[in-house]
Amino acid sequence: MQDRSSGEKAAAVWTRRGFIGALGALAAGSHTVRASGASDQLAPWRDRFPGRSVARGERDYESWRDAMPWQMYTAPRRPELILRPDSAAAVADAVRLSRQQNMSLAIKSGGHNVSEAFLRNGGILLDLGELQGIEIDAEHQTAWVQPALWSHGLLRMLAPHGLAFPVAHCATVPMGGYLLGGGLGYNHDNWGILACHSVLAAEVVLANGETVITSPDSYPELYWALRGAGTGFFGVVTRYKLQLYTAPQSVYESAFIFPFSQLQQATSLLQAWAQSRPHDTELMMLLAHNPMAPPDASSAEHKMAIVRAVVYGSSVDAAQQVLGALGKHPLTTQAMAGNELQPTGLEQMSVSSVDARMGLGFGRYAVDTIWTDRLPQVMEAISDHFIGASSAKTHFVVSPKMNRVLPEDAAFSMIGDTFVGAYTMWDEAGDDDANFAWLKGASARMRPLAVGQYINEVDGFRDPSVLQRCFSRQAWPRLATLRRKYDPHGVFAPWPGTG
Ligand SMILES: Cc1cc2nc3c(=O)[nH]c(=O)nc-3n(C[C@H](O)[C@H](O)[C@H](O)COP(=O)(O)OP(=O)(O)OC[C@H]3O[C@@H](n4cnc5c(N)ncnc54)[C@H](O)[C@@H]3O)c2cc1C
Repeated sequence: MQDRSSGEKAAAVWTRRGFIGALGALAAGSHTVRASGASDQLAPWRDRFPGRSVARGERDYESWRDAMPWQMYTAPRRPELILRPDSAAAVADAVRLSRQQNMSLAIKSGGHNVSEAFLRNGGILLDLGELQGIEIDAEHQTAWVQPALWSHGLLRMLAPHGLAFPVAHCATVPMGGYLLGGGLGYNHDNWGILACHSVLAAEVVLANGETVITSPDSYPELYWALRGAGTGFFGVVTRYKLQLYTAPQSVYESAFIFPFSQLQQATSLLQAWAQSRPHDTELMMLLAHNPMAPPDASSAEHKMAIVRAVVYGSSVDAAQQVLGALGKHPLTTQAMAGNELQPTGLEQMSVSSVDARMGLGFGRYAVDTIWTDRLPQVMEAISDHFIGASSAKTHFVVSPKMNRVLPEDAAFSMIGDTFVGAYTMWDEAGDDDANFAWLKGASARMRPLAVGQYINEVDGFRDPSVLQRCFSRQAWPRLATLRRKYDPHGVFAPWPGTG
């Protein structure tokens, strides 16, 4: 069974951005149709390649490159050749080419990674955007999914079977990078620990071009690595086999909005809720711009804290009972507004995530994330810095992790009792430096209070030291050993910022 609709949307986005990029290139008059060295040399191979390709120096190259990241900021790194294979077999061809030509290979599934790890100087960029297939085995509650299948596509295909999966909180994030780096998705405390813990097996193209199935019984060390290595993985995943879950019958949410001056109370409420370990519930806090503040309000009054609980219940009664109990906490009376017991749904939340009227919008963005056991201190440390954020889109996401005993058969090995993410978002290229500097300031305040960091949402190009902090002392060197074993000739691009 193939889900093409998400691909059509992806193609629409690609086309729009590609079109804008192409117009820009034409206007600048800077790109003529000419073949580069790589393109000349590889022309016969490219003619046979089952998929599309563009080489540096060719007319469409800049618009293709510009369309690779999900966001509007494109890192100034240029691969020699971009390949978009149309099948898993073509992926193996591309890996063999890369090895023969001694060109290192970087991989992209959805292009959401904040470090844009898929963009490297030189070598080949393998864009897996065409691989969006899905095969569902409803009886055994499993599915094989390809790496570019969007979160929303998976939810939509599972819904008629009464099944679900802890996909990312944004409709467009696909399976590829999300699962490799852990995956903190919907209902994460109740459906596995991280989404990668629900990967039962995977099909991987190795550096020698061979395609293997990895599972607990087949290439177990590769299976260990792909469940958490993120941007440090040394193979191409062309399919994952997922453990699915029974879809909730009733999803309800309650949210309480606190003035920013009451951040401490909001944090205490979130922590009290987490300690009560409510059934089937996902908890979070968002620090965001307050759109209701009058223009002459102070900087602090332009910010707010929203504490939110979503219950994935087995019935309306069960969901309402959990939320009703949480809403009775005395600290909720200090909120300036509350929106309680609202019916919602997995698909509804997923669609809302890309609704420009409801979300925090799109644009240029940069992120740093930590795991911490000292949430109140982190909130105190970042509070003034957040008030000083120049962009109204800049926000923090705070998510308690109630289920955090990590299995040893996965490289994902760093966790704390709360996830904190600093997300700066802006529109104009002229504001890049100011926003990157703001994020650096946020990192400097958060990191001393961290137990570790989250590989899916850190930028190794800006600071390679962050990578090691995403893994335990045992997992980090083990990943290096396995990389040497499975990719002895360095076919795959190294960790971001390290080579
Ligand atoms: C809007 C938005 C919402 C997000 N929401 C969440 C969320 O709710 N929870 C969460 O945990 N994270 C979230 N993220 C972070 C997300 O998990 C990471 O950005 C992840 O890397 C995205 O996956 P991708 O396929 O787009 O990766 P890409 O950017 O395409 O790839 C990043 C790197 O991952 C590796 N990679 C990707 N695919 C493959 C493959 N098939 N085989 C081998 N290596 C591969 C490569 O090293 C590649 O360079 C979000 C990001 C964004 C932009």
